[in-house]
Amino acid sequence: MSLAAGHAIISIPGPSPAPERVLRAAHRASPDLYGEELAELNMQVMAQLKRLAGTNAHLAPYIGNGHTAWEAVAANLVSPGDQILVLTSGFFGRAWAEQMATHGAYVEKLDFGNNPVDPERLALRLAEDTDGQIRAVLVCQVDTATGCMADIPAIRQAMGQHPALLIVDAIASLGCAPMMMDDWGVDVLLSSSQKGLMCPPGTAFVWFSDHAASQPAGERKTPFWDWHIRASAGRESLWQFWGGTAPVQQLFALNEALTMLLDEEGLPTAWARHAALARAVWAAVEAWGARNPDIRLAIADPSARAASVTAVHMPFADALRAWVTEQCGVTLGIGLGAQDPANALRIAHMGHANAGMILGALASMQAGLIALEIPHGQGALHAAATVIAEPA
Ligand SMILES: *Cc1c(COP(=O)(O)O)cnc(C)c1O
Repeated sequence: MSLAAGHAIISIPGPSPAPERVLRAAHRASPDLYGEELAELNMQVMAQLKRLAGTNAHLAPYIGNGHTAWEAVAANLVSPGDQILVLTSGFFGRAWAEQMATHGAYVEKLDFGNNPVDPERLALRLAEDTDGQIRAVLVCQVDTATGCMADIPAIRQAMGQHPALLIVDAIASLGCAPMMMDDWGVDVLLSSSQKGLMCPPGTAFVWFSDHAASQPAGERKTPFWDWHIRASAGRESLWQFWGGTAPVQQLFALNEALTMLLDEEGLPTAWARHAALARAVWAAVEAWGARNPDIRLAIADPSARAASVTAVHMPFADALRAWVTEQCGVTLGIGLGAQDPANALRIAHMGHANAGMILGALASMQAGLIALEIPHGQGALHAAATVIAEPA
């Protein structure tokens, strides 16, 4: 007998759960595209997005998903033959490197496996580049496949006086973990609507510094991709922000979500919530793994684990995922990019996720481990509940 009827829990790393309030805000017919209301709303959302990223930099919005933001960055900065250094701690970093190569860049990867970026290795590599051929250093703040988090200030520091731009993919971290674009010296930051921003997929954002703005443009850039056109759009030129019709309902959704995040909960509280939920997940997985070394967290070093998503090695992970969906109405993430995807899964705790949802997901997994007779240690739910009881 299935017990899945009821409010579903979606615990995948994007699209993340969207608040009912956000969906309701979007559920509205478009007003006049050229009217005062939308012009004002758009300016408000742009200002909120800069607050979210901790920046006064330029902001170019695009209609599209995270890959659209990758594409926008490449179009604006990359010409065939440009040398790019990508720091990878998982599948997303590698996929980003491949996309950069499709723009004709000469892409070099510093691969850290399932480990965080080692700033010392980066410093050594840049020291070899005495004539400053490397134009940009790219890194995912969180690689969503491994749940590995990069230390962005340490990476900036390791770059020293090297002239390369620091470009950070914050698609799986913005809103979930600190990002101070200006204080940290990030030149280009990118993200999209459907993860920490708690909105449906469909909008992508590129923030870029004055320094990045002054770089030679990518040879293949067309006006559609040009970040200057979008970032310099005036209040009355909604079409110019968005390269055409504005995503009206997305603006309604973003406005509601950013109000919740920035003005109601507050970013520091949202970051602390994500961190506490993450620690509850880690505590449960470590307890399961105490009796079965095949159950373990993908990232060994706790200081390098993301607040937004946790990747787990788990025997019979595919069967367990299917069981919790069918029996409990809980959807977990697949083992994307894992060495052995059938025996890996991810538990997302990003965006509109609270303790009840995460404890529910973990308790459902506990039931699945029992039902499927997957050997595991005891006390996982007690361990997770203890973290929630004392979240500081
Ligand atoms: C989700 C994600 C992407 C890709 O975003 P799409 O919306 O799927 O195109 C890129 N980078 C990171 C770190 C992500 O988490």
